[in-house]
Amino acid sequence: MSHSPSLPDRPTLDLDPDMSEEERLAALREHFIDVSQVHDELADQLEDARSRQSDLREEVSDLQEENEALKTSSLYIATVEELTDDQVLLKQHGNNQEVLTDVSPRLYQKLQAGDRVAINDSFAIQTVLDQETDARAQAMEISEKPEVRYEDIGGLEEQIQEVREAVEDPLTNPEKFQQVGIEPPSGVLLYGPPGTGKTMMAKAVANQTDATFIKMAGSELVQKFIGEGARLVRDLFELAAEREPAIIFIDEIDAIASKRTESKTSGDAEVQRTMMQLLSEMDGFDQRGDISIIAATNRFDMLDRAILRPGRFDRLIEVPEPDIEGRERILEIHTRKMNLAPELDLGAIAEDTEGFTGAELESLATESGMFAIRDGRTEVTETDFEDALEKVSREESPGKPIAFY
Ligand code: ATP
Repeated sequence: MSHSPSLPDRPTLDLDPDMSEEERLAALREHFIDVSQVHDELADQLEDARSRQSDLREEVSDLQEENEALKTSSLYIATVEELTDDQVLLKQHGNNQEVLTDVSPRLYQKLQAGDRVAINDSFAIQTVLDQETDARAQAMEISEKPEVRYEDIGGLEEQIQEVREAVEDPLTNPEKFQQVGIEPPSGVLLYGPPGTGKTMMAKAVANQTDATFIKMAGSELVQKFIGEGARLVRDLFELAAEREPAIIFIDEIDAIASKRTESKTSGDAEVQRTMMQLLSEMDGFDQRGDISIIAATNRFDMLDRAILRPGRFDRLIEVPEPDIEGRERILEIHTRKMNLAPELDLGAIAEDTEGFTGAELESLATESGMFAIRDGRTEVTETDFEDALEKVSREESPGKPIAFY
């Protein structure tokens, strides 16, 4: 980019020593005229340059303003559908509106169909989102065959039975429901304190039914771009349809399905849209074939009751903290591979761990093993468990559940 005009030639002055005074004077006059012309030309050029500088200053300040505006205003996400000769066809996430937009040749070069871009209110592309920004890839945990089996879960026999009826049977024996003439539950909601085995149950059903396990955390569905959460929900169901039979597990569903608060911020509206997308995907479930949906929450009290209506999460299963037998069973499960002293009584430890969740009991077992190692032993004794318990109790703050992590 060169705007600088060429400089005028420098006038030369040739004064011959043989010249007469008059000739010299004439030559000097001519030279003076040439120099004045060059001066005028340079003065014009300088004037031009000054005016260009002021134009550029204005442009910079406009761009700065635009930049600030872009930084502060919301951007929307769209996918490049098609590149026409000199325009781009975009499809906005959220409302699925299609728009044709102009792009600079430089940006046009960079774009490909399928790219995700951030656009402003006037549909002008602001950025091309790279792979790392693609939340879809990071947001889901997909497992063809999760390792968990029903027998790895301690103390939730009734809950396991209910989950099997609500999720496993419709996948493995759909005719049972057809014969009786009822619809299987649309969605199952597991609720209860953290670390009690909700995720494990969902994984175990997937394992049992050879279904792909697709996990998404509700918090991942709360995205910063408008339409992004809804898009993730669509992706989630699309992926499940590709991989069916599949079990979709949405953890922390409260992140998108809480009772509406007083504030009517745009963020709330966006979360609401994401929830509506989830419900509409669930409504289209009949045609979906072998897909089941399980959600989990630790905050049942906060849930918007709308999601619990028939046809939505219509099977509620409470997953409480384990009782004494449950705790003993969980301790057995998590000490299976540990070298325990023969006289160690897991029943007694179960008695002493009232209020512990499965996850906490697992940590207790590991902590006991650490005490044995510290003591140079390979066998874990009851004393190690007592020491671990004492350590845990010391860390516990009164009235609060014990946090190990
Ligand atoms: P969150 O609400 O925090 O997602 P969750 O209820 O889904 O918790 P899980 O992820 O299933 O909890 O459990 C965490 C870990 O705790 C498990 O990987 C397992 O090792 C242990 N655990 C929890 N509950 C049980 C149980 N009932 N039986 C055996 N292990 C358990």
